[in-house]
Amino acid sequence: MNHDFDVISAARNWRVDAPAPMPPAQVVGELFASDVLTLEELKTRLSKPDYKSLRATVERGERLDPAIADMVALAMKTWAMEKGATHYTHWFQPLTGATAEKHDSFVSPNGDGLAMATFSGKELIQAEPDASSFPSGGLRATFEARGYTAWDPSSPAFIMRHANGATLCIPTVFASWTGEALDNKTPLLRSGEALNRAVTPALHLFGATLGTQVGSSLGAEQEYFLIAEEYFYRRPDLVMTGRTLFGAQPPRGQELEDHYFGAIPDRVLSFMTDAELQLYALGIPVKTRHNEVAPGQFEIAPIYENSNVAADHQQLIMQVLRNTARKYGLVCLLHEKPFAGVNGSGKHCNWSMATDAGENLLEPGDTPHENLQFLFFCSAVIKAVDEHQDLLRISVASASNDHRLGANEAPPAIISIFLGSELTEILDRLESGQGGRGTEAGLLGLGSSVLPPIPRHAGDRNRTSPFAFTGNKFEFRAAGSSQSISFPVTVLNTIVADAVQGLTAELKAKLDGGADLDTAVGEIVRATYTRHKRTVFNGDGYSEEWHREAEQERGLLNLRTSLDAIPHLTDPENVALFEKFGVLTGRELAARQEIMYDIYFKTVNIEGETTEHIAQTLILPAAAGYLADLGAVKIPSRALDATATEVAGLTDELYDALQTLREQNRALGGDEIHEKAHHVRDHVLPAMREVRQAADRLEKVVADRHWPLPTYRQLLFVK
Ligand code: ADP
Ligand code: MG
Repeated sequence: MNHDFDVISAARNWRVDAPAPMPPAQVVGELFASDVLTLEELKTRLSKPDYKSLRATVERGERLDPAIADMVALAMKTWAMEKGATHYTHWFQPLTGATAEKHDSFVSPNGDGLAMATFSGKELIQAEPDASSFPSGGLRATFEARGYTAWDPSSPAFIMRHANGATLCIPTVFASWTGEALDNKTPLLRSGEALNRAVTPALHLFGATLGTQVGSSLGAEQEYFLIAEEYFYRRPDLVMTGRTLFGAQPPRGQELEDHYFGAIPDRVLSFMTDAELQLYALGIPVKTRHNEVAPGQFEIAPIYENSNVAADHQQLIMQVLRNTARKYGLVCLLHEKPFAGVNGSGKHCNWSMATDAGENLLEPGDTPHENLQFLFFCSAVIKAVDEHQDLLRISVASASNDHRLGANEAPPAIISIFLGSELTEILDRLESGQGGRGTEAGLLGLGSSVLPPIPRHAGDRNRTSPFAFTGNKFEFRAAGSSQSISFPVTVLNTIVADAVQGLTAELKAKLDGGADLDTAVGEIVRATYTRHKRTVFNGDGYSEEWHREAEQERGLLNLRTSLDAIPHLTDPENVALFEKFGVLTGRELAARQEIMYDIYFKTVNIEGETTEHIAQTLILPAAAGYLADLGAVKIPSRALDATATEVAGLTDELYDALQTLREQNRALGGDEIHEKAHHVRDHVLPAMREVRQAADRLEKVVADRHWPLPTYRQLLFVK
């Protein structure tokens, strides 16, 4: 294979027919949400009473009046066909972590040609996909494989376009016939309701008006890599597993630090612009784009939205990035760790709570009263994170994220909170009761008028923390780049609901006992901080020292790998928590746990098989080919002899490692899925590492001309 030719073609294979010039701002304005069936659009298409009824469903979660479903369906179909849609689909998020769709045509042939097919309210509200092919974790035995999708009116329908047409996508939930959740969205919706039920009583104590609703908001920052398409298809590991299973470190990695926030290459910028225009049309408010730390790594982030819509949008962002890259001769890698020795990709989840009037409950205010409320909710988050470290860790557990968490470049697997020095100082002083009434540092609970002002924007930043307060929101950084954000957000909503509920009960008891609000809140904030401050850590999360301190002195969990975390999903207290808030039942949790084990096992199993196959059929022959070349030279040469000896030695090492891997790939480790998962973690992954080590050393000595895989140098630096 001639790599020199490859490099040039990979660098030039950029099909410029695709990009549209970035339209001026007003055009973008018109474009925004043009492929979304918004409430405003529906208003123009429905009778007044029908629209009012639909709005009550969308905004207040009231049950949809079946009588108007037909009218909504008709409006939807008409709108979609005007937009060029020929098909519709219930769009849902099964437990694979991806999205699923099955298209039905709006028209169907009859005797006289094509006829308009009906799209009735019934078809809008409910469909029955063949559920047997989606993971259910045993919730649905195949003989009763029925599952159904049900319309989620709180996330608007939209049009997905492709080169030759368009499809109306109707966001839906996916459940078994017995009503158990088979998807990621159902628990997310339930957790949003739980948060609302838990937080509104607290707000009332702070004087909020009756009828106030609370939801969580989420902004997710998506990191990804772009590589040349040619190289992707020459790497069976990337094609089969999404990450490189081989590859020696290039002479230059990210040490020059010249990529982060650097000028975005033209080809990449054209790709980004194209993707953004499509996302605007889908009503996704993408805002920032930039180079990330590693060469070839980039980020896209939308403005935050309510969590349910944000979760749908996040899935769409991944899909649009993947599809659009191909138009530019690029492939978008969403894997958490596509390249060893180079930074991995995360999906930071910026999370907050807000009222329907737009008040952010995690925003420090201008008045002591506002700050009292802020400290109350902030304490609840601290309590939630400390009490439920295991659930947060589980919510980001996957075989692929294991390569990233805890490595020296990503948040550690230990869950702690960064509060920043100013907020920590305020809480510390509060706790110690330092400075009483009348002194400059007078404190909460001793008269709120002297509560020190809370900085509105965290002055300092800490990239090593898995959970950071960033001024008016918390940023959960452990989430992986390829995962759905639904489960992390479900966990956040639920654990904060629990903590708020607990603190509200304490507050209420104090108020009933005659305490004034300031004093009562002051006492609660102080006591909560004392109880849970072990989770607050502002130092370097990457350091060895922190790992020791966290475990030995603070007693924090360090669930290093996914398999250390997943078993805790069904711990009795976790089942009790999710059941108490009606988010997931014990059976649903057990099903999820089983699916997590299953996906973990399959992921590593495929990697093991792929490693074996590549080593056997590509790398061994390359080494043999080079040895033959060296042997063909009949003139005595010390250089050639020494090289041949080295290559032969490494080839034997590779061969030996390969035999071990082959045995482990064939072994099972047990019948139970968790036994299989442990087998691949404890035996297949280490065997793969041995094979890779020998192969990567070979890569450095075998003639480039013989090497069968595009190298890191080519993958990371050819743009
Ligand atoms: P930073 O630079 O601290 O990461 P940004 O302002 O760039 O902060 O925001 C990063 C992400 O956080 C964006 O997606 C943004 O929309 C989101 N974000 C901002 N405010 C909130 C909020 N109140 N709730 C949820 N996400 C938010
Ligand atoms: Mg950020």
